[in-house]
Amino acid sequence: MRSILLAAVALLAWPACAETDAELIARAHAIHDRTLTIDTHVDIPANFGSDAYDMMKPGPRGQQVHLPTMLEGGLDATFLIVFVGQGERSTWGYAKALSDAFVKFAAIHKVADATYHDKMELAYTAADVRRIYKSGKKVALIGVENGYPIGKDIRLLDQFYDYGARYFGEVHNGHNDLADSAQPDKRRNEAAEEHGGLSPLGKDVVRRLNELGIMVDVSHSSDKSTLEMARLSAAPIIASHSGVKGVFAHPRNLTDEGLLAIKKTGGVAQMIAFDDYLRAVAPEKTAEISALYKEYGLTQPGDLAKLPADALAAYDRKMSELELKWPRAGVRELIDHVDYAVKKAGIDTVGIASDFNGGGGIAGWNSAAETFNVTLEMVKRGYTEEQIAKIWGGNLLRVMERVEEHAAREKKKHK
Ligand SMILES: [Zn+2]
Repeated sequence: MRSILLAAVALLAWPACAETDAELIARAHAIHDRTLTIDTHVDIPANFGSDAYDMMKPGPRGQQVHLPTMLEGGLDATFLIVFVGQGERSTWGYAKALSDAFVKFAAIHKVADATYHDKMELAYTAADVRRIYKSGKKVALIGVENGYPIGKDIRLLDQFYDYGARYFGEVHNGHNDLADSAQPDKRRNEAAEEHGGLSPLGKDVVRRLNELGIMVDVSHSSDKSTLEMARLSAAPIIASHSGVKGVFAHPRNLTDEGLLAIKKTGGVAQMIAFDDYLRAVAPEKTAEISALYKEYGLTQPGDLAKLPADALAAYDRKMSELELKWPRAGVRELIDHVDYAVKKAGIDTVGIASDFNGGGGIAGWNSAAETFNVTLEMVKRGYTEEQIAKIWGGNLLRVMERVEEHAAREKKKHK
């Protein structure tokens, strides 16, 4: 009797197990099509919105996100990043950084409010994201990477908010006046710590971000800065683009403690598709890439846009040889970080970011056009549609809403 029962159970279970590869891919496509997908970190060069980076015309190389590729890959929303690299901490340095930041804010507004407003719109709230998505347009949001442009003037945060900034990372590579970085600047001979976490100004910044309704972003912060931001923030915080040290102990990745501190705020950690952070890269590869950067006078991927065509072609050729010799990590390694973070902190604490145009991009997800592959890998690992929707944007929107609600309460209090 028992064996008959077991056989019956096995028969009943059979159809689910027997999903063919083609059926699984079709199911993943259906899930992907129904899911609102948000990539929380896409860099833009200073010439964004010009002919050199036209959102409708994928250029000859380089830039990884365009409106046609977003359509092709089913990527619905992207945080476009106002990033300024850390420089000299002087009146001149702050002024230059602020001016560079304003250029990027203006470029995003030009593209989303004017040039391609019929195809893409800037969202200021989670409700905006849902409304624009429903309208069939692509969604742009603005994140700020590195607090350097505000110098020592916290009042500038109000202006950043008005310009649409909805997350703010206090620090990038190299310490600044606000916080210690996960990666001290070796060229400046920086010590491991300058403030031992956040400076007094950096702490005030957390409070002001809470009051304004801008999400606090811990990516690029030192482990101590991360914990301090989580402790001080009265609203949920995010890691806009980081991996987890539990899978690979890179300085840019979150410790278990950091990840759980984010969870405690009700926040979310967006796992990053960045080759170097996903698993150990051969040191020879890193050295050869640095040498290539030096040879072409580059300090960040955005600088590629400045190269003349023949130099760019030569750079590309050398880079593809390097990639062949040492292949990049792939979507599987990215989802290993997602799996770990989900197991450690739960499904409500995890999301995804590409870091496209900023060094991000992996085998299988190297442009917006390939976004489906990320969903496919999650379906293969057994994630349900509901879980995938949370990871692809549901969690981030929940955090955005809580941050908005907190700011609304603060504004009422201070009226
Ligand atoms: Zn970054």
